[in-house]
Amino acid sequence: MKKMVVPPTDVSYSERHKYVVNSKSNTIKGEPNTTKINLLRLEPQVLVRFRQFEQAIAQNTLFDFPENPDLIAHKDDLLSCYTGRTKKVQEIFKLIEDAQPIRFLKRCPYCGITLPKTYDHYLPEAHFPELSVHALNLIPCCGTCNSTKNIFWKNNTHRTFLYFYADLIPNVQYINVNIITGVSAIGARFSIQKPINIQNSVWVILSSHYGKLGLISTYNELASDEITEVFNACVSHLRCGGTNIRRFVEELLMPEEVLYGINHWRVVLMKELAVSAEFAHFVNSNV
Ligand SMILES: [Zn+2]
Repeated sequence: MKKMVVPPTDVSYSERHKYVVNSKSNTIKGEPNTTKINLLRLEPQVLVRFRQFEQAIAQNTLFDFPENPDLIAHKDDLLSCYTGRTKKVQEIFKLIEDAQPIRFLKRCPYCGITLPKTYDHYLPEAHFPELSVHALNLIPCCGTCNSTKNIFWKNNTHRTFLYFYADLIPNVQYINVNIITGVSAIGARFSIQKPINIQNSVWVILSSHYGKLGLISTYNELASDEITEVFNACVSHLRCGGTNIRRFVEELLMPEEVLYGINHWRVVLMKELAVSAEFAHFVNSNV
């Protein structure tokens, strides 16, 4: 897990909202487009909310960011900015994607598993429709994480999912894995553990994120396939004259660690395989 890069603001997020509204047709089937008329009328209120949202992110006070009933009442018009998927909205998606390191978005930031083919509204669009095309409220993520998170983003005391544009993701290992050796196969069991030097306020959000998305059990399910992949690569390596399995696996994982951080489940797993005597024995006995 790693933070995402904040999309650039050479054109402000507010200005991009205006572009989306202005790109809508003035008429529909010869009649005035009432959605556009409403959006233009709401624009000053929306732009104030944009500024407040950006301030809340900067001051780490998102938890207290209030809903605005006046704007929720105009949910259909405001959400049409997003659902319309106009060229100007596509530009916002591209802005977000282009800001990330190459290959970073090969995996969903929420789970680190699959391709992020959807966008999650971190502050749910049903409650914050005015932020539907604010780049900082759009997190690329996979369909599974998106539907699991749904409208849930906080409980009575804290946010329940990581906010990848700003939350601190500790650079110490908190995901662990035990390699389990069977008679004819090797498996793994992941766990999450609070390191002593992580603040509680950070940990409650982080551990809730993994819990709500059921990530540890999903990693456990996926582990044997990943181990098989690394195993096959190691066997080929030895058969081609390679010698040092540990160094070979460490070289495999290095680019992933740079990209996704030390707590990415595959990085954690490969690091453990690199030093596992049982895994090395298993590979050697199959060459
Ligand atoms: Zn995901």
